[in-house]
Amino acid sequence: MSRELNPEETAMIDAVHRFADEVLAPAAAGVDEEAVFVTRHLQPMADMGLFGINLPDQWGGVGLRPEVMFEVVALIAGACGSTASMLTAHFLATDAILIGGDEALRGRYLPGAAAGKSLGAFGLTEPLAGSNPADMMTRADRTADGYHLKGVKHFISNGGAADFIVVFAKTDMDAGHRGISAFVVDRDTPGFSSGPAERTMGLKGGHVFELSFDCAVPEQNRIGEEGSGFRTAMKTLDNGRIEVAAMCVGIAEAALDAACRWSKDRQVGGEAIATFQGLQWMLADMATDLQASRLLALGAAAKRGRGERFSQEAAMAKLHASEMAGRVTDAALQIHGGYGYSRDMPLERYARDVRIMRIYEGSSEIQRNIIARNLLAQYDD
Ligand SMILES: Cc1cc2nc3c(=O)[nH]c(=O)nc-3n(C[C@H](O)[C@H](O)[C@H](O)COP(=O)(O)OP(=O)(O)OC[C@H]3O[C@@H](n4cnc5c(N)ncnc54)[C@H](O)[C@@H]3O)c2cc1C
Repeated sequence: MSRELNPEETAMIDAVHRFADEVLAPAAAGVDEEAVFVTRHLQPMADMGLFGINLPDQWGGVGLRPEVMFEVVALIAGACGSTASMLTAHFLATDAILIGGDEALRGRYLPGAAAGKSLGAFGLTEPLAGSNPADMMTRADRTADGYHLKGVKHFISNGGAADFIVVFAKTDMDAGHRGISAFVVDRDTPGFSSGPAERTMGLKGGHVFELSFDCAVPEQNRIGEEGSGFRTAMKTLDNGRIEVAAMCVGIAEAALDAACRWSKDRQVGGEAIATFQGLQWMLADMATDLQASRLLALGAAAKRGRGERFSQEAAMAKLHASEMAGRVTDAALQIHGGYGYSRDMPLERYARDVRIMRIYEGSSEIQRNIIARNLLAQYDD
């Protein structure tokens, strides 16, 4: 943390900590087992202002500093990854409107979203366009009073339950990513439909959907200028990558905590397994890995808070944290032996939940591409 928490920030973190421990964590295994969308905690989360922690108070948000937001997301994820994923998908939608939209659009969507009265989704990926959004086929053709949007979005978190969806579509099919524009589509728009929730390996309560659009969108629902959609998406994903890192840190912290407790309690051959140096070294590596991720992400968050460019730091934080979370949750499961593999304990859920973090919001390969590109650009003549 670049500076100490003020009393409001401390109160927020304490309240989230309590909520995570007392409400989210006890329900998380059931959410995973039943694969029900995490709507059961929406009202208490709304009452705590959690749906607006990314938004300034001008738009009804809590306006947390990015570093404090990091801690809040980490606490929620450590208790229930699905809830954190639902919440951060909502942040992507509202961030996109905040970043790219005009005052009128912000005023129409953000206060309700910040209050948790409406849920957002962020629709960039398509069946044939994931890592390279410029491949997208969804198009937005001009009409007399706006656009006709036609296409399919795939793997969209919250999509089937969202009240509004930020959708990226081409207004110029021949201009690559410069032809991409962004729009807000309301769920009750005729011609919009959502398929059933996809069946996924983890985050089973944070549902993803295929969405189909063959609908009219008024001009005032365009986010920013025509052709500015890719820039809006990338800036939004810079924020999102710090949030993915926060989820990874939160889940890895829960796994490390479980591993430390287990290793002190579990006796093998009359000795607690924590006395074995082999396991102590595993725990030491896990704690060090975790701390590196936390500091990288907090560094990116601090830069964001100062209004500096932070794309490179966000990509590094996301890359490191998502790969760290794979290593740490796997090691924590190993330390639990057969009990770690059992569905009666949360270790196997942690390992399943973090696997997507290396894929969504830009895979590890794409983060490496971004980092290398920025690095090598410093050596251009
Ligand atoms: C649970 C879940 C939630 C999601 N939520 C959302 C959401 O809310 N909104 C949304 O828009 N999308 C969402 N996604 C989609 C996600 O962002 C994409 O799956 C991701 O960007 C990868 O795209 P893809 O699946 O098409 O893989 P592809 O792009 O087909 O990639 C396949 C493989 O090729 C690699 N690869 C691709 N290009 C390169 C390259 N240039 N160099 C090296 N390797 C490369 C990739 O890293 C990957 O390993 C979600 C996905 C899941 C599974």
